[in-house]
Parts: sequence; structure tokens; C-alpha cells
Amino acid sequence: MTPIPHLIGGKPYVLENAQTVPVFNPATGEETARLAMGCSHEVDAAVKAAQEALNDWSQMPPARRAHVLFALRDVMHKRRDDIARTISAEHGKTHDDALGEVARALEVVEFACGIPHLLKGDFSRHVARDLDACSERQPLGVVAGITPFNFPSMVPLWMIPMALACGNCFILKPSERDPSSANLIHELFEAAGLPKGVLNVVHGGKAAVDAILDHPGISAVSFVGSTPIAEYVYARGCAAGKRVQALGGAKNHMVILPDADLDQAADALMGAGFGSAGERCMAISVAVPVGEETANRLVEKLTPRVQSLKIGPSTDKDAEMGPLITKAHRDKVADLISKGEAEGARVVVDGRGYSLQGYEGGFWMGGTLLDGVTKDMTVYREEIFGPVLSVLRAGSYDEAVGLINDHQYGNGTAIFTRDGDAARDFTRRIEVGMVGVNVPIPVPVGYHSFGGWKRSIFGAHGIYGPEAVHFYTRLKTVSARWPTGIRAGAEFTFPSNG
Ligand code: NAD
Repeated sequence: MTPIPHLIGGKPYVLENAQTVPVFNPATGEETARLAMGCSHEVDAAVKAAQEALNDWSQMPPARRAHVLFALRDVMHKRRDDIARTISAEHGKTHDDALGEVARALEVVEFACGIPHLLKGDFSRHVARDLDACSERQPLGVVAGITPFNFPSMVPLWMIPMALACGNCFILKPSERDPSSANLIHELFEAAGLPKGVLNVVHGGKAAVDAILDHPGISAVSFVGSTPIAEYVYARGCAAGKRVQALGGAKNHMVILPDADLDQAADALMGAGFGSAGERCMAISVAVPVGEETANRLVEKLTPRVQSLKIGPSTDKDAEMGPLITKAHRDKVADLISKGEAEGARVVVDGRGYSLQGYEGGFWMGGTLLDGVTKDMTVYREEIFGPVLSVLRAGSYDEAVGLINDHQYGNGTAIFTRDGDAARDFTRRIEVGMVGVNVPIPVPVGYHSFGGWKRSIFGAHGIYGPEAVHFYTRLKTVSARWPTGIRAGAEFTFPSNG
């Protein structure tokens, strides 16, 4: 079987005797491909290809770079079903969910099309006698992105359009678990007219990541993945003198106040907790009903909904969620549920041991509902990243807020209520980066930026949107004096605006 290749300088690249790893269809458990794993050799080759392309690309007027992004938008629209099928084949999410991923990626491409406006500098005439000042933002050079398995198209496209629009060349190191989307993205950029070498794909795991972090030819690294790796990438990349943004894991709470519409809240929890089998960094994994009566009624409404979740492969149009990404991950989620049970949680609906007829080899798991979860339990402290919804009952609104603010993660959160005062207070006090009011998954649109707080992010910048312009460029300010004919003699005092 020919392995899935790296794409360097516009060409497939595989070393003879390269190490390969299997790629699976999670719905069947079958190996569908082998992936070539890169290390410092491939990263080096990609940096060289990117450096060769950099001068022409960074000197191209932003409006011309935007032409490529406009063309990419068209290509992506035309091929969105292909993109979605490629995502689902290796990730397992439903086709509609994958189409949603493509739609959110397109928002970033559309925002990046406005790059001439976004890169407009500041100019001040006459800041001192005959002196004008102008500030502009220039590209960093060769930058890299390291991405997780759960959005194999969207997360790379959170990074690449903005990095390229700003005039950088890019090296993508996608997840080794669903790598084909990265090669398809490369193909789409090529079809949109991107010059060779501006975008390169190096596949691999830790060895490729370390080579990126240590390479002196790479100026900046964007990372999205789990918190331990985000922290590692941030520390090692910064120690090597790079600019790094590293987005990590999450534990997202949804507070349900007694005045909320509980059917609406239960529906929202189903989509946000079990969509994509809970493998979303913005998934709601903890429901926090306030008051015993709210909690009892909510669990009563959730139970039949979780029991009747429609689980199936991406080809099943009625499926609401698919399998988990690997057998190892499915087993880890099942172990965490068992740990929760042993620590005292009540398993109201049990998804362990679920099997789908005709797909017995797949990495399936049913939806799980845990009640009576408490702050000290492992299922509460750790990110599970599976179809498991925990109910943690709070005695008061303040207790719910304190719980969220005390948690190590601060990616997303939501409040469901009809009380405007409470909602306003929540959005002000909550120590979380993305907040929804009656919105369960508050992923910002492409012209705002995405980013959590606390141990959900390392680094100063959010991803995509206006923050991306700052992350992928550096500031230059020019002070210029015209005309040159005036001789004032040597001035030894510090320059002022007199
Ligand atoms: P992961 O951390 O295992 O992998 C992410 C990337 O890091 C991959 O490219 C992988 O090859 C690489 N990697 C893995 N182990 C490494 C190591 N030891 N050294 C160096 N590199 C390594 O994450 P995942 O399982 O692919 O994705 C799920 C995680 O990503 C969840 O924690 C989820 O919350 C998080 N996530 C966060 C966001 C966000 O925006 N905050 C978005 C999506 C996913």
C-alpha cells in the first residue's frame, strides 16, 4: 500500500523505508491507509521549500494574495461534499456535522479575503516638525501549524488562510489519526492557484512536532490539541525563540437556572454534549442545574433523549453521532465512566459496551448520562472527550459560578435562563473565554476570534479573526522627516514633538 505522502514544495514526498502508521475507518475498525511519518529530515525539506517561496509570496500585494483566497472559497464551495466525506471517512462524524465543519472553515477563508483592509497601516502626518509616522504590520516568515484529530479540516483552516493572507508561508503538521483532510486542503489551495511551496504538509507525531519546535527557520507556531501537549509545545517553542499560540483542552459547563425553558435546555445539551460523539473542544460535558427541582426535571427530560440517540456511520442520514476516533480512545472513555461510577456518580444511561449491527469492528460507544457528579471526581476534573454528559447539581447560582471559575479549564460555557440580570452578571463574572447566553456552543464567527482562558490556552493571542492578524505579523513603525533641506544642527536632548 503506497503511504499517504507529505506534500513539500508542491510535490508528494516519501522517503524510502519511511516509518508508516495505520489510518483507520472508525466506523468499521478497518485499516484504510498507511501514513508516512516525518521527522527532522522532512521538516527541514519543508522549511527549505517554504523559504524559497517566501520572497515572492510576501512581496505580492495583499490584494493579489486575496485573489487566491477568493478562488479557494469557490473551490471549497464546489467540493464541500468531498471535503465532508474525507473528514468522515477517517474521523467518523456524520456527513451533516462534517458539512458544518466545512462551513465554519469557509468563514475564516472569507474573513481572510479582506486582507488588504486588515493590513491597512496607521499614518500620522506632522507628529513633530516636518515629521510623519506610519505603522505597518509585516509577515513573520515561515510559520507552522500543529492540529488535532477532531476537526481535521476546520482547525487547519483556522490557521492557514490568515497566515498566508498576511504574507507568510506555512507548514502544516496535521493529526496522524485523520491525515487525508490535510492533503485535500493542499489540493484545494493548489486548485485555487497558490504557488508551490507556500503551503507544505509534513505528517507525523512527536518527532515531527519537536523538529518544528526546534527549527531555527520557523518563526511562529500555532497549536491546537490537548492541554499537556499545548503546554509542552508552548514551553519548547518559546524556549527556541518562537512566537507560539497553543490552544488546549476543555471542560465546558452549561448552567441551567430554574426559570429556563427546560425542553430547550435539554435539546441544547443533547446537541452540545453528544454531537460529534462529544469529541469537540466546545462540547458541553457538564450540566449544572441550579436547585434540586430544576435538576430532577432536567434529568427526567435528558434520560429518554440520551437513551434514544441515533448512532450510526456517516453514510446513515439519520445518525446523530458516529463512532469514537480510535479503539484506545473508546476504551479510555469507558474506563473514565467506570471510575466515575466507582467514585460515586450514578450512571443513569450507560453507553459502555455499545455495538452497532453490521459494524461490529467499529469504535462505537453509546451516550452516557451521569448524575450526582461532584467536584472531586475524576470525571469532573478531567476532560473526557467522549459522549458523556455529567450532571453536577448546584444549590445556588453563586455556587455554579464559583464551580466554573475554580475549574482548571476556561474554554467555553453557557447559561440558559430568561433572567437578563443573571445573564449579564454571568457574562461579566465568568472566567471563561467564550460564553453563550441561551447558546450552547458559542464558537465565535470568523470575524471575531476564538480562544479560551486559563489552562485552555497558552500564549497571548486567540486564533483566526482580528487576533490572527496580530499573531501572524509584526509591527514596524517608520518615522520620516521631509523635506531634508532644513539644518537644525546636532540635538543631544531626547527627541520630543516640539
Ligand atoms: P493531541 O494533543 O493528542 O494532539 C494534537 C497534536 O499534537 C497532533 O498533531 C499530535 O500529532 C501532536 N502530538 C500528540 N502527542 C504529542 C507529543 N507527545 N509531543 C508532541 N506532539 C504531540 O490532541 P488530539 O487528541 O488530537 O485532539 C483532542 C484535543 O484537542 C482535546 O483535548 C481537545 O479539547 C483539544 N482541542 C482544543 C481546541 C481548542 O480550540 N482549544 C480545538 C480542538 C481540539
